[in-house]
Amino acid sequence: MLHGKNAIVTGSTSGIGLGIARALAAQGAGILLNGFGEAAAIEALRLDLTREFSVPVDYHPADMQQPEQIAAMVAHAESRFGSLDILVNNAGIQHVAPIETFRGERWEAVIAINLSSAFYAIQAALTGMRARNWGRIINIASAHGLVASAHKSAYVAAKHGIVGLSKVVALETAETGITCNAICPGWVLTPLVQKQIDAIAARENIPEAQARRRLLAEKQPSGEFVTPEQLGQVAVFLCSEAASQMRGAALPVDGGWTAQ
Ligand code: NAD
Repeated sequence: MLHGKNAIVTGSTSGIGLGIARALAAQGAGILLNGFGEAAAIEALRLDLTREFSVPVDYHPADMQQPEQIAAMVAHAESRFGSLDILVNNAGIQHVAPIETFRGERWEAVIAINLSSAFYAIQAALTGMRARNWGRIINIASAHGLVASAHKSAYVAAKHGIVGLSKVVALETAETGITCNAICPGWVLTPLVQKQIDAIAARENIPEAQARRRLLAEKQPSGEFVTPEQLGQVAVFLCSEAASQMRGAALPVDGGWTAQ
């Protein structure tokens, strides 16, 4: 379905981003991986994807806190593949603390990586998408883009921000073949969430499995994690012709979290 299209997935060395990169590659898209990790592990990942899906796969190490590196990553995708058609803004970090003790440096980092990076990447990608009159911009927000939780001030602000940014970009591209939408996942068992499970287990002195159930029970009525594979398929759908009039939507994929 996506043969001849090329995608950047930010933060795709792990978790949800990797699930989305795999799903887009399975549809034939060329992939520019991005994110942190050991060079050898990233190279192995790049080779695995290339072999498994017979698509071009490259890697760019841009730090999503650095606007000039983000612009360089988009330019690299365009020169390496000939076009950048799909931009998935996924890279993200979490920091959990009450607002009075939330360090300013952590606030700045969460806002930069989870929100401002998407602004800079979209700005860089739109020129080429407009020239070809086709594009898919998919922003990975969160259930926290729609509702809040205590102790996540920067994350909730960034995720609400990216839902708003998605709407603005959708309006500014409404008469083109470019769409922009946000996906709002509930809990997905990735390293980002494992850290929060470990923190609950340590704080409450309970086994890891119990902390995991506690985390789900508090927010996610299904009692099950969303998977990176499921989110990959939602991203594929947003790239399809069927989704070409979905513009500025914020799609919950959250086991019922925001239905409450
Ligand atoms: P993860 O920690 O598994 O992956 C995060 C990715 O971002 C990694 O590849 C990491 O290297 C990369 N990254 C971090 N800082 C970066 C930087 N400065 N520059 C470039 N890359 C950087 O986390 P995940 O759970 O897969 O999260 C992916 C996205 O999904 C995030 O935006 C997160 O907020 C969102 N999300 C996650 C969940 C969840 O339950 N896991 C729920 C809702 C939304």
